[in-house]
Amino acid sequence: MNPTHLTADLNETQLAVVTAPTGPILVLAGAGSGKTRVLVHRVAWLISHEGVSPHAVLAVTFTNKAAGEMRGRIESLLGGPSGTLWIGTFHGLAHRLLRLHWREAGLPQTFQILDSDDQLRVVKKVVRAMELDETRWSPKELVYFINAQKDEGRRPKMLADEGDQTRQVMIKVYAAYEEACRRAGVVDFAELLLRSFELWRDQPDLLAHYQHRFGHVLVDEFQDTNAIQYQWVRLLAGPKSIPFVVGDDDQSIYGWRGARVENIHKYQRDFPGTTVFRLEQNYRSTATILNAANTLIANNSGRMGKTLWTDGARGEPIRLYAAFNERDEADFVITQIREWIRQGGKREECGILYRSNAQSRVLEEALLVARIPYRVYGGQRFFERAEIKDALAYLRLVSSRIDDASFERVVNLPTRGIGAKTLETVRDYARAQGCALWQASAATIAGGTLGPKGAQSLHGFLTLIERLAKETSGMPLHEQVDKVIHLSGLIDHYRKEKGERGEARVENLEELVSAANGYSPEEGSDLAPLESFLAHAVLESGEGQANEWEDSVQMMTLHSAKGLEFPLVFLCGLEDGLFPHQRSVNDIGGLEEERRLAYVGVTRAMRRLYISYAEQRRLHGIDQFGMPSRFIAEIPAELIEEVRPRVQVSRPLYSSRSGDTSGSRDTRKIEEPSHSSGLRLGQRVRHKKFGDGVILRLDGQGQGAQVEVNFERLGRKVLMLAYANLEPI
Ligand code: ATP
Ligand code: MG
Repeated sequence: MNPTHLTADLNETQLAVVTAPTGPILVLAGAGSGKTRVLVHRVAWLISHEGVSPHAVLAVTFTNKAAGEMRGRIESLLGGPSGTLWIGTFHGLAHRLLRLHWREAGLPQTFQILDSDDQLRVVKKVVRAMELDETRWSPKELVYFINAQKDEGRRPKMLADEGDQTRQVMIKVYAAYEEACRRAGVVDFAELLLRSFELWRDQPDLLAHYQHRFGHVLVDEFQDTNAIQYQWVRLLAGPKSIPFVVGDDDQSIYGWRGARVENIHKYQRDFPGTTVFRLEQNYRSTATILNAANTLIANNSGRMGKTLWTDGARGEPIRLYAAFNERDEADFVITQIREWIRQGGKREECGILYRSNAQSRVLEEALLVARIPYRVYGGQRFFERAEIKDALAYLRLVSSRIDDASFERVVNLPTRGIGAKTLETVRDYARAQGCALWQASAATIAGGTLGPKGAQSLHGFLTLIERLAKETSGMPLHEQVDKVIHLSGLIDHYRKEKGERGEARVENLEELVSAANGYSPEEGSDLAPLESFLAHAVLESGEGQANEWEDSVQMMTLHSAKGLEFPLVFLCGLEDGLFPHQRSVNDIGGLEEERRLAYVGVTRAMRRLYISYAEQRRLHGIDQFGMPSRFIAEIPAELIEEVRPRVQVSRPLYSSRSGDTSGSRDTRKIEEPSHSSGLRLGQRVRHKKFGDGVILRLDGQGQGAQVEVNFERLGRKVLMLAYANLEPI
């Protein structure tokens, strides 16, 4: 291959990184400076110039999407398929390893992956079985505890209760949960990593094999590795292979999930002789956007310190929109996207980013109404929808009878007269015998411990699954899926559900058949298509909305936007309490992590950036009145241009109190967030009798002017502005 093809478009430092002599390397650099780019080029360089076989390379990326892009970029650089190169997320690679070595890892061959929903369900069951009070022992917190232990590589037996009774119970739950997973042949996300780590740690021959094979281990987004991921890399790299990691401490945003930015320092200690490179030129964003990001992140303390500059154009100002509410915000986004497309832009160049998953629904609805195709990454994804999970549960049972979570999910769905009492007997039996619910069902039916009706219905269910397994065996995947959703009764069940909702569910189920039809297992995988598809369903952030090939707007949480870039970016919902998140505002560490998240958000934008906040937002069914996020104020004002809201308010509102009843109507749009009368929508005000509240509406003029206020204690009230004597607070 032509070396200039490979090294063209690299600056001097980037070139030095790509062509550096083999040895441990750390690239520490800010957003958009080409870290991912040098990692990709490094792989291509090793293969084409250093004679390294693709077989000897393992590259870890942060998302499946990034892995796909990296494979594409490497292949286009190499001008051919990258074949046996291992590339993927930590979870994806760990899963691959466990599939290959399930026996050594002590797993059943058909082991299934538990997603976070299923995990919570299993923990709930454990809590109930242990007869703990759920209000005191919150299953959610227990899940958090369990995952945190796993992320640190700790099994229950390694934990001491330190004389603390609470901790003692938590450890017991953890142990019981492990046992439940073992019985059901399932592993959760954290388990994938821990289990594959232990596999290597405890099987020196196997480890030696992989150390020998993977002479080169490359890790992107290194700042967000947790303890176990770090140990995983360290073990694999061992004395034989050479690690190459890139990261940015300012983009560490997974501290809440156990990520350790200190791993950057640790790496340098653990791999003596590490060469550290710093990239300082940003190629992604306009000077305005970069400037905003740099100023924002400068508010954080304890940074490793980096310089980031661009010789690019100053570009457009950042536009700030104060929306009246979340719908207005969504409409604004739609208008701007339409404008972008009118100017010849593509939909896929638009990224809509938000702090919380729940924000996506309103935006999605607006996009649907506007008939703009979009895709949502992460969050309520296709594969997480209830009806899809029902169908997957059937498929999982067809594939592995001992999957208890799936059993529980569909044993009586659609209703087939299997009552709570019957199930309780089955559960008791399973618990006592340490077997799966499937075996317990068969045994309790045979043993006559169930009522005749329960026994008959349960028998019907077992027969149904066996029949599905028999009739679908050997069928093409999509026909298997089709058969299962029909014979299980799911389609009929959801068809009966009234209205659009039921319809949408049936459509989703049908979409699952298309998804199966379009699915091709990973190269070199020797899993049966169904097993492979089921694993894919859990691992992949389902991308069920627009077709893969269709030009569509990209939507995602800020957390899943890491590493990506878009010419046009919307940062939505910049309200204190939402972003920074309420949980973090009182904790400096948490606040700094939120700020890094904001830094990640701003630095995704290449050419145009919109920031919006809503004065009133309905989220999780509750109306909230937020102040603009403090992060907005941390961006230099001269880089921001406020977009005029479309809400029109008649002018002499306050002045009418001072006797000015001229009624001269001024309908100019509000230019600044605060109205000249001193009052504005969303403003907090105090009323002598009613207390504090927020202005929802300002109407009319002069003596007739009205104001609607949502009072904290009393709710909404419409008042005559002239007599309300509202005091801004
Ligand atoms: P992040 O921290 O957000 O992950 P990064 O450091 O990984 O960013 P890249 O995504 O690799 O940065 O690069 C950012 C953008 O700059 C990409 O579009 C990339 O193609 C471009 N780029 C990087 N280096 C150069 C270069 N030398 N010449 C031209 N463009 C470049
Ligand atoms: Mg990157």
